[in-house]
Amino acid sequence: MLSNKTAVITGSTSGIGLAYARAMAEQGANIMINGFGNADAIENERASIEKDFSVKCVYSSADMTKPDEIHAMIHEAEKMLGSVDILVNNAGIQHVEAIEHFPVEKWDAIIAINLSSAFHTIRTAVPYMRQAGWGRIINTASAHALVASPFKSAYVSAKHGIAGLTKTVALEVAEDNITANAICPGYVWTPLVEKQIPDTMKARDMTEEQVKKEVLLAAQPTKEFVTVEQVAGLAVFLCSDAAASITGTLLPMDGGWTAQ
Ligand code: NAD
Repeated sequence: MLSNKTAVITGSTSGIGLAYARAMAEQGANIMINGFGNADAIENERASIEKDFSVKCVYSSADMTKPDEIHAMIHEAEKMLGSVDILVNNAGIQHVEAIEHFPVEKWDAIIAINLSSAFHTIRTAVPYMRQAGWGRIINTASAHALVASPFKSAYVSAKHGIAGLTKTVALEVAEDNITANAICPGYVWTPLVEKQIPDTMKARDMTEEQVKKEVLLAAQPTKEFVTVEQVAGLAVFLCSDAAASITGTLLPMDGGWTAQ
């Protein structure tokens, strides 16, 4: 479905971003992955995408806090892969602390990575999409783009911000065969979430199952984690012709969290 298309996916060295990369490659897209991590592990992932799906996959180490590097990454994708048809803004970090103690540098980093990086990628990629007469912009927002939780001021602000950016861009490119949408996952089973479990078991004297259901999934009526494959499946659908009229939307995939 996506052969002859290219996808640039920020923050795709692990978790949801890596699942997007593999799902889009499976549909035939050439891929630029991006993010931090162990160099050998990243090279293994890059090479396995090429081998498993017979597509081209390149890696950019651009830091999503640095506008110049972001701008260069988009141009590099066009040079190396021939176009920038699909842009997925996914890089993200979290910090959980009360507002009066929230470190200023954490606020700045979260706003830069989770929100401003998408402004920089989109403004550089849209001219390429307009030139090609087709484009898909997909932002990984969060249930926290729709509702708040305490102690996550920067994250909730950035995710509400990306909701506004998604809608605004959708209106600006609506007549150019380009769509812009945000996926709003609830809790997704990624290494990030998995790592929190042992500490929480110790701190609360709970079993792994109790931590998952009573702490992490307290807000999620299904009491099941969303999977990275489900999120990636929605992103692939948004790239299909059937989704051409879906634009400017915030699509929850949260096991019922925001229905409450
Ligand atoms: P993750 O930690 O597995 O992945 C985050 C990715 O972002 C990694 O590839 C990391 O290297 C990259 N990254 C971090 N800082 C970067 C920077 N400065 N420059 C470039 N890349 C950088 O986490 P994840 O759970 O897969 O999260 C991916 C996205 O999904 C984030 O935007 C997150 O807010 C969102 N999200 C996650 C959940 C969840 O429960 N896991 C729920 C809703 C939304």
